[in-house]
Amino acid sequence: MSHQFSVYEMARQQLAVAAEYLDLDEGLHQVLASPMRQLIVHFPVVLDNGEVQVFEGYRVQHNSARGPTKGGIRYHPDVDLDDTNALAMWMTWKCAVANIPYGGAKGGVRVDTKQLSKRELEKLTRRYITEINSMVGERSDIPAPDIGTNAQVMAWVMDTLSMQQGHTVPGVVTGKPLELGGSEGRVEATGRGVIVAAHEACKGLNIDFTKNKVVVQGFGNVGAVAAKLAEESGATVVGVSDALGGIYNPKGLPIRELVDRFAGREGGIRDFRDAEQVSNSELLELPCDLLIPAAISAQITESNADKIKAKLIVEGANGPCTPAADHILDGKGVLVVPDILANAGGVVVSYFEWVQDLQNFFWEEDEVNQKLTKIMRQSYASVENVMRAHKTDMRTAALIIGVKRVADATIRRGIFP
Ligand code: GLU
Repeated sequence: MSHQFSVYEMARQQLAVAAEYLDLDEGLHQVLASPMRQLIVHFPVVLDNGEVQVFEGYRVQHNSARGPTKGGIRYHPDVDLDDTNALAMWMTWKCAVANIPYGGAKGGVRVDTKQLSKRELEKLTRRYITEINSMVGERSDIPAPDIGTNAQVMAWVMDTLSMQQGHTVPGVVTGKPLELGGSEGRVEATGRGVIVAAHEACKGLNIDFTKNKVVVQGFGNVGAVAAKLAEESGATVVGVSDALGGIYNPKGLPIRELVDRFAGREGGIRDFRDAEQVSNSELLELPCDLLIPAAISAQITESNADKIKAKLIVEGANGPCTPAADHILDGKGVLVVPDILANAGGVVVSYFEWVQDLQNFFWEEDEVNQKLTKIMRQSYASVENVMRAHKTDMRTAALIIGVKRVADATIRRGIFP
């Protein structure tokens, strides 16, 4: 999301490393390095004061070799095509690592939702989804929530596409409210998956999870749930932050109270007084064992990686560590559990939601959580095995698995015509 830094270039660099390990054919590498379809739209919304404002939106489908494309819709003032390309590519590898039958996509609108009323947000959503309507569909490309969007936005997406088709199509989008064909467990799924991955990492490192001091950057859906579940598992969460800044208490923060009383409030979690105030960058460098970056991309870079004190980083956000940071962290012996493994819980339960919608048969929360935990553990174990076999860092290991699955599917299908 930073404009001096290309996140897409970072994603392509990661792919190039995996391609080398896999000795990938150059033509095939080019196929995987290129987004399959990109759409840029400019569309007007009549604001509550009667003025017309034009917004820019995107939908990118990166690759569909393994199935329909899947990925969230992001509403954020810094969203751009470069960003969306990277996020779509990461979705492809994420779905392949979890071994769910999807390719990757991502969409977004460049907007600060804090400036919009609920009515304006609804109009923006309905118009954006109409503009990208030729790309989405329950068998072609299935959106979901991401930063700045939520179940209500997904309900408008579902309603808009259903109105245009003339009948209700719940499977066209995931992350919907329960009463519209959403799945039990979807809201918590990404954060839950992050904590399952953290538990697996601690087992591998011989760390007692309950002894962890945890810092979480980002207190949106992913960060808040991860912090809550870390606390419930007996760890001590010492630092958290939201977009406005962070708070730190080495004795531990009351996460449940922060979630209930401060999350999403105008002043944010810094309104909680019984803690030291820290900036978002200071937060990352706090003394802790487990660091969960769950905000935006490129937060840990060559300029702060050597100041990170955590021994374990589990990526809740997409792309929080740059390749230069990865290199420094690897040299310091920090284990980085990469986004395409660690934050796959969201899309895994999106997959369950889609399956339930297509079958019109719904599961209980326990069943969803059990199936999610099983996939997260299996994916973690297979990445760990490849990491040991190839003596690489964990991101490269996850990419080797993900990229290989997509490459194999492409080879099996053949290049049309
Ligand atoms: N936006 C989430 C992600 O980055 C979820 C995508 C989905 O559920 O399709 O993984």
